[in-house]
Amino acid sequence: MKPGTGKVYLVGAGPGAPDLITVRAAQLLARADIVFHDALVHPDTVALAVNAEKIAVGKRCGRHSTAQRFINKRLIDAAAKFDTVVRLKGGDPMLFGRAQEEIDALRCAGVEVEVVPGVTAALAATAATGTSLTQRGLARSVAFVTPRVGEGEVPSEWANIAAAADTAVIYMGASQAEAIAAALIAAGAPRELPVLVVENATLPEARRIALRLAQLPRLAEYGLTGPTVIMLGKVFASALTASAESGILPACKTA
Ligand code: SAH
Repeated sequence: MKPGTGKVYLVGAGPGAPDLITVRAAQLLARADIVFHDALVHPDTVALAVNAEKIAVGKRCGRHSTAQRFINKRLIDAAAKFDTVVRLKGGDPMLFGRAQEEIDALRCAGVEVEVVPGVTAALAATAATGTSLTQRGLARSVAFVTPRVGEGEVPSEWANIAAAADTAVIYMGASQAEAIAAALIAAGAPRELPVLVVENATLPEARRIALRLAQLPRLAEYGLTGPTVIMLGKVFASALTASAESGILPACKTA
């Protein structure tokens, strides 16, 4: 294939709040000709691309591979037509963002690619709670894991890895709370391990729920609808102490 003339930037949009984006990302958006953005990216962030054609390529779950191949093709086609193509992804593009498929497809097509990092959900969620993921003498390892497995993929060792780490952050797991708790307990995590669940981190509607691991199946009762991380580890003990009787902390307004 003839190389395109444009360059594709894989840009991290951050976790939600539109002002949690890098200066580099904002500058690229301002001069972008076309932007392909995920469904979860805040509309005010997309709006930073004042002159660009804006295309939502959101895929929240299911039928990933077909959609992904289609996105790859659209990025390649756009690079042949435009100078500055931005692929805007939630959080950081390189963490659970399927960035590698896009990078490989673009490189294979001879298109130049550059990645602009963003604030990943785990770091946004922990910032809002005021709990450091690492703490001297208490937590020296952090695992970012997901129980989500694509069709036809081999199951991962996520539960063993999360149970072995001092602190673990689970992405894309809120709808499987019961299975997650069972898998972690089977992997040796203590039933009383503190868990902090954060929904919509950095957005005005953010919610935090403090529980113990054995209570995690109760998460289904909270009617979570936004993106959610489940964080586990001794470092979250203080969040449990501080939590209201109901287990729900007040919504954190950071925007
Ligand atoms: N690349 C993204 C992650 C994409 S996977 C990043 O670096 O953050 C999507 C998952 O990210 C969601 O299922 C949820 O687990 C997490 N997530 C994204 N935004 C979030 C937010 N504002 N609050 C809590 N979790 C979030």
